[in-house]
Amino acid sequence: MKKILVVLLGMLVTISSCKEKDEFMGFSYPEGKYKSLIMSYDDGTIEDIQLVNLFDQHHIVGTFNLNSAYIGATRGWPQENGDTIFQKYVPKETLMSLYKKHEIAAHGALHKDFLKVSDKEILEEISTDVSTLSELTGREIISMAYPFGNTSDHIAELVSTTGITNARTVADTYQFDLPTNYLKWNPTCHDSKVLDYLDDYLAIDKPELSLFYVWGHSWEFKDESRWDIMVKFCEKIGAKEDIWYVGTGEFTDYMKAIKNIEFEADKITNPTDNKPVWIKLSSGFKELQPGEEQAIKLVADED
Ligand SMILES: [Zn+2]
Repeated sequence: MKKILVVLLGMLVTISSCKEKDEFMGFSYPEGKYKSLIMSYDDGTIEDIQLVNLFDQHHIVGTFNLNSAYIGATRGWPQENGDTIFQKYVPKETLMSLYKKHEIAAHGALHKDFLKVSDKEILEEISTDVSTLSELTGREIISMAYPFGNTSDHIAELVSTTGITNARTVADTYQFDLPTNYLKWNPTCHDSKVLDYLDDYLAIDKPELSLFYVWGHSWEFKDESRWDIMVKFCEKIGAKEDIWYVGTGEFTDYMKAIKNIEFEADKITNPTDNKPVWIKLSSGFKELQPGEEQAIKLVADED
């Protein structure tokens, strides 16, 4: 019996090696997509409810960066002109239902400016968020937006010692490029400018990974003209076949998995402890599972 199996296996190997090998053409996002959209919203005020409804209607995924110490509270923010603006934050018990299809992320427990406090306070701001938010939601918290967008090389280094894998600034790039540093992740633009870049992004049709990364605050939508911009944007960019709607944590994880793929002259391998990764072969797209290898045509194999 064993012998027959060995012969059969041998035949299978011969058949598969005779088959013309695929050429490796690059990586794609899940489902063979090349475009992606990230919507990153800060502070977790109750206006998130209206925004989440809009996202859900259009199959858009958001990352919501919350200040864990203010959840359920009302807080006054003193303004330079002497006025105080009052913010109401989403109640604790609604977190899971409200952000069901969205990522929950950190934004500093008390929204302290990281450029003005000690390293110890920065680490406290982050660890309080991570522990409180993961306790309240049962989720792993791996993403963050810097309070006031403020960071530095030193602060990013500090963040890298926590469980946070990615952190957003407010330094708009007006580009659709992938980040060079996930812990100083510069977004494409603030949501007040999205319509200026929308048509350009929708028109992109090439096999290269790109990202439209938008950030903002839902409390700014108390201004109706600003809300109208967001509605228009979501109506046009939502539910598209060629766009991956994703949170920043999942995006970062996926890009890390791509980095872990191992290349040899005639094959590529997805390590067993990695996540599935999508590749483009000359025969089409394929989801390469953890532990799976794919034979590829040698570059020198030209016939
Ligand atoms: Zn903020």
